[in-house]
Amino acid sequence: MKLNNANADTFVPDGADIGRALARTTHMAVTAHQDDIEIMAYHGIAECFGLPDKWFTGVVVTDGAGSPRAGIYEQYTDEQMKQVRVREQRKAAYVGDYSCQLQLGYPSSAAKDPCNTAIRDELHAVFAACRPEVVYLHNLADKHETHIGVAMHCLAALRRLSAGERPKKVYGCEVWRNLDWLGDDRKQALPASSRENIGAAVVAVFDSQITGGKRYDLATAGRRLANATYYASHATDVETALTFAMDLTPLIDDPSLSPADYVTGFIDEFRADVQKKLGRFA
Ligand SMILES: [Zn+2]
Repeated sequence: MKLNNANADTFVPDGADIGRALARTTHMAVTAHQDDIEIMAYHGIAECFGLPDKWFTGVVVTDGAGSPRAGIYEQYTDEQMKQVRVREQRKAAYVGDYSCQLQLGYPSSAAKDPCNTAIRDELHAVFAACRPEVVYLHNLADKHETHIGVAMHCLAALRRLSAGERPKKVYGCEVWRNLDWLGDDRKQALPASSRENIGAAVVAVFDSQITGGKRYDLATAGRRLANATYYASHATDVETALTFAMDLTPLIDDPSLSPADYVTGFIDEFRADVQKKLGRFA
């Protein structure tokens, strides 16, 4: 598959032909930045790890420019930093036993642009080549504008697939804003307890970010543990790590459904729940 940008990167850890690596994909995550996949979609990585009939493919849309830098990375130019981030993403793909890792190399400004049809067209081509059963995207209440831009481009691209090509399940996952506020009957609670070693390792390889002063490794493990512990107040924990997601599948099945209306519906339910509990004491 020929990618649009000259700086785009394709990596197949087991050396398979790229066409085969995309076609065997069953689980796929598309994120804005290097390391987002490993923070939010470990469920998919773990579901596929080491199995002959399940394969995880990761797609990172932006080029990693403008990342914070400290320590050995402090003097790096934007160009050098982009290269470091591409290498780190390859390391995660290798450790996580991915089928394929694509890094599309767009600037953040392009991902945030609602009118950028090049990204949508390219994502549509990638989805059509992979035809995954399960897709992990950023959730639509994320506070990072680039995450929202990428998720919305992905939804538009998925809606263009024919009914037979569409994934069975599309999850909107946690990075910059967790989903504890979703009603328990709305939460998609994705187990992330298996192979804690691999779950930790795929986040830990992003040294430039963690050394840069952001302990994503500890924060990600902490959020997963907190999710598992606080998920159900009256039951003992079955999982020791959970990632939460919102179900975005209805937006693919019904292209006339407005993403904004769909997500604010969850917020209305949250508001109604708080009002109901307090209202008894009014
Ligand atoms: Zn990100």
